[in-house]
Amino acid sequence: MSLSLSADQPAVPANADDGVWLECIECGETFAPFDDIRYTCDECDGLLEVRYDELPTFDDFEGRGVWRYADALPFDEGVSIQEGDTPLYEVPRLEDDIGVEALRIKHEGMNPTGSFKDRGMTVGVRVAKELGVGRLACASTGNTSAALAAYGSRGGMETLVLLPAGKVAAGKIAQASLHGARILEVDDNFDTCLDFVQELASRGEAYLLNSLNPFRLEGQKTIGLEILEGFLADYDTVPDRIVLPVGNAGNTSALYKAFRELVQAGELAEADVPKLTGVQAEGAAPMVEAIENGADEVRRWDDVETRATAIRIGNPVNAPKALPGIRETDGTAVSVSDEEITAAQRDLAGEGIGVEPASAASVAGLRKLRNAGIVDADERVACLTTGHLLKDPDAAAAAGGDPEPVPGDIDGVLETLSDDA
Ligand SMILES: *Cc1c(COP(=O)(O)O)cnc(C)c1O
Ligand SMILES: [Zn+2]
Repeated sequence: MSLSLSADQPAVPANADDGVWLECIECGETFAPFDDIRYTCDECDGLLEVRYDELPTFDDFEGRGVWRYADALPFDEGVSIQEGDTPLYEVPRLEDDIGVEALRIKHEGMNPTGSFKDRGMTVGVRVAKELGVGRLACASTGNTSAALAAYGSRGGMETLVLLPAGKVAAGKIAQASLHGARILEVDDNFDTCLDFVQELASRGEAYLLNSLNPFRLEGQKTIGLEILEGFLADYDTVPDRIVLPVGNAGNTSALYKAFRELVQAGELAEADVPKLTGVQAEGAAPMVEAIENGADEVRRWDDVETRATAIRIGNPVNAPKALPGIRETDGTAVSVSDEEITAAQRDLAGEGIGVEPASAASVAGLRKLRNAGIVDADERVACLTTGHLLKDPDAAAAAGGDPEPVPGDIDGVLETLSDDA
């Protein structure tokens, strides 16, 4: 089995439920989607993908937000807080400065809880209800926990989150806490938290809603569909390239799946598929290492560090889906320093767009690849910004200027202003 763009639409197996089934990306084994709880293949432990007997065309999409794309999802409706439909901002100064034909920013920070994780959760929590599970759980660098807590409480379900102690931005913990998640702070990194949640899930303690869960990625496909529809509306063509931050590589996998399904449905020519371009922080770049070395597998990094805490991940679980996505679309992967990330965060802020550090990695990576001549001047590019500035107020304050104390009288204020000269 390979996740190639030219793969044919698979035959519908007997265990499909209303035209939906799960299929192993390694051995091709198929499973009924909602009979039992399952995250990976029973036969070979490979990653699973959701498959459909019929794939929609652009004409089939109607309405607003993630559920506009219901024909590309396993259900018609989910546990929703009006996620999706995020802006695709023009950034003329940044476009000029980086030097590409067109640059648009798909700002996923504009989702209900401030990150793209909401798109995955609206589907994932709907599936959890279908399966009749009790407790929902995730490991998280922060945003997954915020989204799970919000969507879980919306769905009236109990939620449990495992976070790496001291490595989660303040806004995200505040969200998980207020939305009522039980929060366990683990004295280790994210990858260990995910190991623990997988263990809890396999012991039946909770339903796992990390991006290892194939239904999460179905919701996140809609980022790709919205970007394509936005470019078609404004430029009459899809983007040449989509640049995105990579942590567990769920989005990279989800966008690739969206494109494969459009190719299979005859809606997108293989040659037009946007080049998927992943960006990691230098201190947590196992995917970049694998792409640079032409490796089939990603080596787990045990020690990871970056100020972009949302992508402080050393063992990207979706690598077997994402590596073919980057390679088959003729994309690439690049790492950027924390200084480059902060500079890009300021660049975006200068266009009025407030993002958290991990999000700015996409723009930092684009600049680096453009400077290296790997991205051409005539390309039309979409950069994904994954989370909102307010998620990580400490990073934003550190990247911005300091407030100046002034006395409580207008003369003092005027004096301070005139000191500038
Ligand atoms: C989860 C997250 C990422 C990483 O996305 P993956 O799909 O795991 O690669 C990047 N940025 C932010 C802000 C996130 O919350
Ligand atoms: Zn298998």
